[in-house]
Amino acid sequence: MSPSRVRLHVLGAGHMTGAMSGFLRGEAGDITFPVPIYVIEHPQGLVLIDTGLHPELIETTQRLRRLADSFQFHLAADGSQACAAVLRSAGFDPALVTHVILTHLHFDHGGGLLQIPNATLLVQGREWQVLSDSAQVELGAYNPDDVDLGHQRMELDGDHDVFGDGTVTCLLTDGHTPGHQSVRVRTETGVYVVCGDCCYLRRSLENEHLPAFCYNSERQLESIRRLVREKDKEGATLLFGHDPEQFRRIAEDGLNSGV
Ligand SMILES: [Zn+2]
Repeated sequence: MSPSRVRLHVLGAGHMTGAMSGFLRGEAGDITFPVPIYVIEHPQGLVLIDTGLHPELIETTQRLRRLADSFQFHLAADGSQACAAVLRSAGFDPALVTHVILTHLHFDHGGGLLQIPNATLLVQGREWQVLSDSAQVELGAYNPDDVDLGHQRMELDGDHDVFGDGTVTCLLTDGHTPGHQSVRVRTETGVYVVCGDCCYLRRSLENEHLPAFCYNSERQLESIRRLVREKDKEGATLLFGHDPEQFRRIAEDGLNSGV
């Protein structure tokens, strides 16, 4: 398949505010950051990468258990920033999404899956296993009720070429979580890598500045270096997980190589 028939869209599904140290260890203050989702139009399917926040978070943060007071959520009260509504306003029917790739299962990535009924879920097997870890679930970052909804599921073990043509490839970038993955997309306008939370911000990459919390910081650093190699080798543009500045530029100017 020629990349000329593949398109990538970056969409906004609300914002959150949390401690800056959660992104860059040792930094003071708070950061308000976007929650992006991504759509890939491919001749063989409509792919969604990540699904944003559970719509219940508009009303209450109870489902986050011990994280319930750690973040503020900026979500439109009318539900227009929930996953399905965001897709519809960009011209996509949620019922026609064929694949959902979850970079990982944290609540701000898997929370909207309930609104995508017919897709096959692509997730790393070692990430899915975390749902069985009651200590992790009690902490609140993982909620089986967000994602274990009976979708057809492919549990991946490492890199995976989704359509067998090299245009959409899951790249194992563990460290933030046990089975975090990023996604390389070859499109008509260039090669992009959806970093997910392997790399929250451009500053995380440029300074190899890790967050205060991650599953395995050595692995996360290795994975960030893998993203740098994708950038150098493929000329890929890296799309950071929650970078307010990059997200604003994309919203204003559209998605361009080198953003
Ligand atoms: Zn995360």
